[in-house]
Amino acid sequence: MHILRSNREIAQMRKAGLVVWEAHQTARALVRPGVTTGEIDAAIEQCFREHGAIPLFKGVPGKIPFPAVTCISVNEEVVHGIPGKRALREGDIVSIDTGCKLDGWCGDSAVTYAVGKVSAEVQRLLDVTSGVLELAIELMGTSRRWSEVAGAMATYVRRAGFSVVENFVGHGIGREMHEEPQVPNFQSPQLRRSGDFALEPGLVIAVEPMVNIGGKHVKSLPDHWTQATADGKPSAHFEHTVAITDKGPYILTAAPGEGRGPEGLRPNGQLAQGSKPEGDEALALGRKVR
Ligand code: MG
Ligand code: MG
Repeated sequence: MHILRSNREIAQMRKAGLVVWEAHQTARALVRPGVTTGEIDAAIEQCFREHGAIPLFKGVPGKIPFPAVTCISVNEEVVHGIPGKRALREGDIVSIDTGCKLDGWCGDSAVTYAVGKVSAEVQRLLDVTSGVLELAIELMGTSRRWSEVAGAMATYVRRAGFSVVENFVGHGIGREMHEEPQVPNFQSPQLRRSGDFALEPGLVIAVEPMVNIGGKHVKSLPDHWTQATADGKPSAHFEHTVAITDKGPYILTAAPGEGRGPEGLRPNGQLAQGSKPEGDEALALGRKVR
C-alpha cells in the first residue's frame, strides 16, 4: 500500500526538499582534500538546525543506532558510511546522503562529489550515475509503471559497462523517510510479480541509483553500517525525492527554480497565485492504492 499526496502536500514536501538541497550546498562548499567527513556532517547538522528541520538519519535503529545526520561513503564504500575523522584526499569520490523532516514532511537526497581531480574512469562513473538518475526522472513523466523505468535504468548502466547495486533500493517518502513502495533500480522477477507500481499523480518516491565500476556485489564493514563493494572498486550514489504531478515529475530536492514540475507550483514550493488544488485533491488526499 502506498499513499498518494495532494498538490498541497507536495508543495509542503518541496519545502523540506529545499532544506535538503541547501544542506547539500553546505557540503559541496566543504568538499576538498583535507576536510574530514565529520566536519561535513557537523555543517549539515548546523544547516538543519538553522531551518528548524529534524535530521532523519540520526538514531536510525541498527546494531548501533546511526550516529550522524549524513551517510558519507568514500570510494569503494557504496552507502551508509559513518562520518568521522577520515580526511578526504585528492582523487577520492565522496557520496553524501542526507535527509530531514520539516513541518512533518520528509526530503532525502544524495550526491557523489569528486575530491579534486579524479581519474577519467571515475569521472565517467559519476557522469553515468547522475545520468541514470536524470534518465529515471525523465521517464517517470512518460512511463506507466515503475518497472519500465527500472528496466531502462539497468540497460543504461549495463551499456556503460558498470553494475547497478541490487541490495539497496529507493523508497516511497512522505510523512516518514521510508514508506512503500520499494523503488529498485533494476528489473527483477520479484518486481514484475509483486513490487511494480503505477506512476500516477500524487506518487512521491526517492529514486537513488547506486552504480559500481566493478561487480554489483556489496559487503558490510565491521562498523555495522558501511556497505562497500565486494571487489573494492569505486561506487557512486545519486538520489532525488521526486513527485509525480499531473504536470509531470517534480524534483523536490532540486535547486530553487530547477525542480521543473507543475506550473501551478512555484519553485519555492508555494502554490502560485490563482492556482487551485486539482478538483480531485480530496480524493488523492490520503488515498491508499493497491
Ligand atoms: Mg538518501
Ligand atoms: Mg533514500
